[in-house]
Amino acid sequence: MSVTIANLGFPRIGPNRELKFALESFWGGRSSEAELKETAASLRRETWLKQKNLGIDYIPSNDFSFYDHVLDTTVMLGAVPERYGFKGGKVDLATYFAMARGTTSAENSVTAMEMTKWFDTNYHYMVPELVKGQKFSLASTKALDLYNEAKAAGVETRPVVLGPVTWLSLAKGRDVDPFDYLDDVLAIYTEVLTSLAKAGAKWVQIDEPAFVLDLNDKQRAAFKKAYDVLSKTGVSLMLTTYFGRVAENIDLLTSLPVAGIHVDLIRGSDDYDALLTKVRPDTVLSLGVIDGRNIWRADLDALVDWIEPLAEKRDLVLAPSCSLLHVPVDLKAEKKIDPEITQWLAFAQQKLEELAVLKTALTKGRNEVAEELAASTKAAKNRRSSPRIHNEAVAKRLAAVTPDMAKRQSPYPVRAAAQQAKLNLPLYPTTTIGSFPQTSEVRQARAKNRRGELDNAGYTQFLREQTAATIRWQEEIGLDVLVHGEFERNDMVQYFGEQLDGFAFTNNGWVQSYGSRCVRPPILFGDVTRPKAMTVDWWSFSQQQSEKPVKGMLTGPVTILNWSFVRNDQPRSVSCRQLALAIRDEVVDLEAAGAKIIQIDEAALREGLPLRRAEWQTYLDWAVESFRLTASGVRDDTQIHSHMCYSEFNDILPSIAAMDADALSIETARSQMELLQAFASYQYPNQIGPGVYDIHSPRIPSVEEMVNLLRLARKYLPADRLWVNPDCGLKTRRWEEVKPSLLAMVAAAKEMRAEEKAK
Ligand code: GLN
Ligand code: ZN
Repeated sequence: MSVTIANLGFPRIGPNRELKFALESFWGGRSSEAELKETAASLRRETWLKQKNLGIDYIPSNDFSFYDHVLDTTVMLGAVPERYGFKGGKVDLATYFAMARGTTSAENSVTAMEMTKWFDTNYHYMVPELVKGQKFSLASTKALDLYNEAKAAGVETRPVVLGPVTWLSLAKGRDVDPFDYLDDVLAIYTEVLTSLAKAGAKWVQIDEPAFVLDLNDKQRAAFKKAYDVLSKTGVSLMLTTYFGRVAENIDLLTSLPVAGIHVDLIRGSDDYDALLTKVRPDTVLSLGVIDGRNIWRADLDALVDWIEPLAEKRDLVLAPSCSLLHVPVDLKAEKKIDPEITQWLAFAQQKLEELAVLKTALTKGRNEVAEELAASTKAAKNRRSSPRIHNEAVAKRLAAVTPDMAKRQSPYPVRAAAQQAKLNLPLYPTTTIGSFPQTSEVRQARAKNRRGELDNAGYTQFLREQTAATIRWQEEIGLDVLVHGEFERNDMVQYFGEQLDGFAFTNNGWVQSYGSRCVRPPILFGDVTRPKAMTVDWWSFSQQQSEKPVKGMLTGPVTILNWSFVRNDQPRSVSCRQLALAIRDEVVDLEAAGAKIIQIDEAALREGLPLRRAEWQTYLDWAVESFRLTASGVRDDTQIHSHMCYSEFNDILPSIAAMDADALSIETARSQMELLQAFASYQYPNQIGPGVYDIHSPRIPSVEEMVNLLRLARKYLPADRLWVNPDCGLKTRRWEEVKPSLLAMVAAAKEMRAEEKAK
């Protein structure tokens, strides 16, 4: 029986973010379209040749994208929203980037398409928009072009396309059900697949991650129809699922007339037995055995043990669980991670090397790769026992956590009274979410300090001046609760990760977040401890500048967890609790230093929700418990705030309420306070700060519009439970925008107070 190896997609950004820089230079008018295309072509060529040299049997093409693969699919289908003025034919690069980013030229200013998170990853895609009477046409031949381009470079590839059912599932219809367009969409897919078959492609990888979601009848019917139609196009389809278990969708999956099926055996290992009995013997089975979502090295010898018996029975393809888009490119570029930790890691390049070793071991025998297998085993062993990872004190502390530790001393009404007696805040107290503009001056000072051009004393002095000036300004304009501005923080997660034990940081571990935007997630590899206080000095300095309360400002455990690469040798819930205990210590230290209000941001709590509804509650339970454990070490009269972005809370309100934050600021400006309806009907008991203006846009809001929003809010909630604040932190804005906006916001609050008095 044969064993072959496949890759499902390689990071597009390039080993040193070449694509990012080429894009930004093109957008900035500093380089031509031809130069951008040249950079892209050479990155693709390098990537193909690299995979060929590694002996990958199925090398992907069309995994490349200038911005996003969902947008590429939308463009392929010609489903270009009217505002971009598409007139038929092929979509050009200018239109493509207008869809991705909007345009701001004087004569022609259009908004970008909406962007949201791709399944439960931190990658963002452009949401397809469909309207009544939507037209479709083949408006991009990129899949074919790139297949031919690879062929010309001497590399036979397996083109990747996003499948029609997933694309329709991600689409938003305006007064129309996207699935009404299934036939139109299938007609274009048929054209694309037929053209690939004609060009000589034997296989096409058709990605349908929707298979790991809860499917409705419409989606199921669409899967049946789609693959009946597409299986007749002359190519063999590798129907590719990932990001989780197929679970109850397995009968549907295995009934489809496709030549191959790929499943994610990292997250979907529970499907394994069912797969073996249900996948027809003549269907090629592709097993995602290397983790495409995380950066840990595999235990190859153990994998061989596991795969060997199966490989004797049927033909197998081995692959990463999903596209490698979600991991950094190459571990070799890392200079500062400790060697002991480095040996536990594998980035995209290393993951493909692991596949090559697996193939050799299974086809030619383990002896052929004895050295590689031994190194892998040694690393796995080391990781199981390393004192860097396993800290007995942490285990003991975790075991000693009692339910009471996750409960405030008194219920909210008692706390609220004690806090008000101490804080004496007016109605509609005004505050901000934490950060103030990260100007180029601030970023430059940080960069200089990092490069050693500005010594620590000089840098601290600079930050103190920024902070003090920001506090002074907040006092001047009459904000009630101040923040220090977060100038000392590079990133709200990294800043804490760097001060906690159990985290490692890369120097080049970039992963695409959206478009040209990349992030470098911290690596949570071991038991978490807090060697010393992390924010108390900055908070104390700030509070010394003012009589008004300055909020202590922390990132919560769930958010730190969700924005990091997390160890896979224990449940995420356990890592989260370790983080909770560490941040709890910080909360207690801030209180001891005199902080009357402490904000614990949980920006990413909602986005951590599992893909399957049935798994939501378990996640929410431990996530909320971790937040409460973090927040509950303080006295009644210490006020705990939390902040969350992406506030689609309607379906998780009981959990939001269970967090029991004294005050919660949320994003509501863009939805016209719509969300508050749900808070009102749920009778959310604590204080809320509904964002009164959108910080994602440079627009300066008027007093009037904020008063109107607050009046709406007042309809739903009593005045003494409302705060006045922007939607989110101000770090991405400029002072020229922040100053007039906050001045107007304070004026709006005053107007509301006057109105309340007059009642
Ligand atoms: N305190 C953070 C800030 O203001 C919160 C950011 C966020 O919610 N993403 O920047
Ligand atoms: Zn936010």
